[in-house]
Amino acid sequence: MSIFKPTVLIDSIFDIDADFIKRHHLKALLLDVDNTLAIYQTREPVPGVMEWIETMRALGVDLHILSNAKPKRLTAFANQVHLPYFYMSLKPLPFKISKAVKKLGVEKQNVALVGDQLFTDILGGNLAGVQTVWVQYMQLEDGWTFQCKRRIETRFRKKYRR
Ligand SMILES: [Mg+2]
Repeated sequence: MSIFKPTVLIDSIFDIDADFIKRHHLKALLLDVDNTLAIYQTREPVPGVMEWIETMRALGVDLHILSNAKPKRLTAFANQVHLPYFYMSLKPLPFKISKAVKKLGVEKQNVALVGDQLFTDILGGNLAGVQTVWVQYMQLEDGWTFQCKRRIETRFRKKYRR
């Protein structure tokens, strides 16, 4: 299996429902923020996120934010959605992901890292040995490095969709 291949490819977090949780034997989710739960550069959860979090809670799924963002930026968001968080997680390095899994006290095969970036979220999750769920980013970021990355990602998404 390629370290660049997600366990599952979905459009958005809203594709994660009771059936999905059951099918993938998930007990906990580690959630990216930018372009996964919030539109890039906003600190607002996109409409429906709060309801989705409630649904996951009702199913007994343990939710944590795991972001590369600094604590100041992350705290504001995490407080809004009332979720615990791991900050500056240095994705795609696997160490902090593994540490988070240990802290959750669940087996790594019952954890999924959910994120929009192939070269940080998916690569990091795969290296840490958790399941990886790749969502489509919500909005294209500024800057040529991002545009370049997104173009490569689009190619991968097309390939994996087949
Ligand atoms: Mg992101």
